Amino acid sequence: MRWPAECVHLEHGHHWMATFIPDTLYLRGKPRLRRDPARPEVSVCFDCLAAVLEPELAAGSGQVIAFEPDGESFTQYFFLARQDFDAAGLRAEVAAAIETRLQELQGPCSDCDGPATWIWISRREVSSLDQAERITASPGALFCARHGAAKLCEALGQVAEANLFYVNAPYGDSGAYLWI
Ligand SMILES: [Zn+2]
Ligand SMILES: [Zn+2]
Repeated sequence: MRWPAECVHLEHGHHWMATFIPDTLYLRGKPRLRRDPARPEVSVCFDCLAAVLEPELAAGSGQVIAFEPDGESFTQYFFLARQDFDAAGLRAEVAAAIETRLQELQGPCSDCDGPATWIWISRREVSSLDQAERITASPGALFCARHGAAKLCEALGQVAEANLFYVNAPYGDSGAYLWI
């Protein structure tokens, strides 16, 4: 049996852990590499995840719509590029709503006035990814990549207890961070 690598902090037990599988996308359960070579899977505490993920998100140039996860119940948080919406089984109305938001994404970052490439949609605005009409209508908050990355990591860090079995890194030109 092969055990995945884990950060040193998890050895002492931790209330927050995630399996970071940065470059692999699961489409209906089947792994698809999104970068070659793909980085290996690692189990990490929040600090170790944020140390890798936040700078990578901040350096990204793609457009991202990110949905705040339900901290009580989510078990996966992953990026899905626009071209994979269908293959991943995203409902057509939801995919269409997200694509429209990505196409219309423009304006200043809420934190620094730089050009926004992210929309952050809070749980208050959209509490379930079935809510296509709310995805279309909710204003969300616009961020540049740096502040979008900070917002996403802040939200993950506010979850007191987490055991996420799948978190990935963005790939492709535009897409969505979704939770299950
Ligand atoms: Zn750690
Ligand atoms: Zn900004």
